[in-house]
Amino acid sequence: MNKEKKTQLKGLTLSELEEFFVSIEQPKFRAQQVFNWMYNHVSFDFSDMQNISKELRNILAGSCSLKALNLVGVQDSSSTGTKKYLFETHDGRKIESVLIPDEERNTLCISTQVGCPLDCKFCATGLMGYKRNLSVGEVVDQYLLVAKDVGKDKITNIVYMGMGEPLINYDTTLKSIEIFTHELTKGLSRTRITVSTAGIPHKIKELMESKFRVKLAFSLHSPFEEIRSRIMPINQKYSLQENLAALKIYALKTRTRITFEYTMLKDVNDRDADVKELSKLCSRLPCKINIIPFNSIKHMSPGGISAELEPTPHYAIHQFAEKLRNNNITVMIRETQGDDIAAACGQLAIKF
Ligand code: SAH
Repeated sequence: MNKEKKTQLKGLTLSELEEFFVSIEQPKFRAQQVFNWMYNHVSFDFSDMQNISKELRNILAGSCSLKALNLVGVQDSSSTGTKKYLFETHDGRKIESVLIPDEERNTLCISTQVGCPLDCKFCATGLMGYKRNLSVGEVVDQYLLVAKDVGKDKITNIVYMGMGEPLINYDTTLKSIEIFTHELTKGLSRTRITVSTAGIPHKIKELMESKFRVKLAFSLHSPFEEIRSRIMPINQKYSLQENLAALKIYALKTRTRITFEYTMLKDVNDRDADVKELSKLCSRLPCKINIIPFNSIKHMSPGGISAELEPTPHYAIHQFAEKLRNNNITVMIRETQGDDIAAACGQLAIKF
């Protein structure tokens, strides 16, 4: 049987694995065993599965696959310890994940799409265009292949902030969260998982109604509809007002604070008028602001408005943050990590 025809087990949830084993006339409990091997013991090989008979292991090895991605490169940032992982899919696409060490945690930033359809003007991934959604196996394997490299216990947090828009690939995102947080996976609690979105109100509501009430980050970038529409075209379809209404309900129902991501762009969103409007906006719901210095996308040679974007200078970022703090808003400034290996926010892009 050729490789393409094999049944992909990586990415199946427990109930889907149960269905699979029932369909090949095996007892349901096999599903728990394989689930535990794949996602808890980080196994990529049926020969590890010693609690399954050799005969069945051979059958499974001949007809099923346990690997959705190939790790093809790792780059280390000497200055910060950030590591960028490059993966290849079965159809020859490349995607990236980034492991970001911090004092007491290690956060893995994962991708949900090959490229991104949203075309945000400040983001390198947007500039590379959109190819396709990732499968659940491809999302989960980013975590498992990094876990194999550094040790599963070393990954303490997952953020859906790599390439793509997780709420467009919603079902996949949700199933991957189900796997990451499953008790058999001995993985992560939902409070250590953050989904970042550019804003799709009905999907935010759907996520709220699911049992996976993960943390939500919202790419705000401007408190003004018109400016936001210019730098994030998706705002023309789903307005800031609609998003804020959905985010407010999400925050109140899940008892979490929304993180507003705010990439500082000189003269675009760093003016006093922005401080004033942002402060008003933040008084409407439980939230905090995460300021991200704008990482250059010049390596993509962009045209149009993207070519004109400049970072707000460092001192001005701090002044901006101080003004917001004076209005009782929680503000963090994310130190840029990994820009020496193009692994910082919005720099993930692969030339096809
Ligand atoms: N599509 C999702 C997740 C991916 S982006 C979203 O929009 O939230 C992760 C974060 O990095 C977003 O807040 C994004 O706006 C920000 N970002 C993108 N490009 C950037 C750049 N060049 N410099 C700094 N931050 C950037």
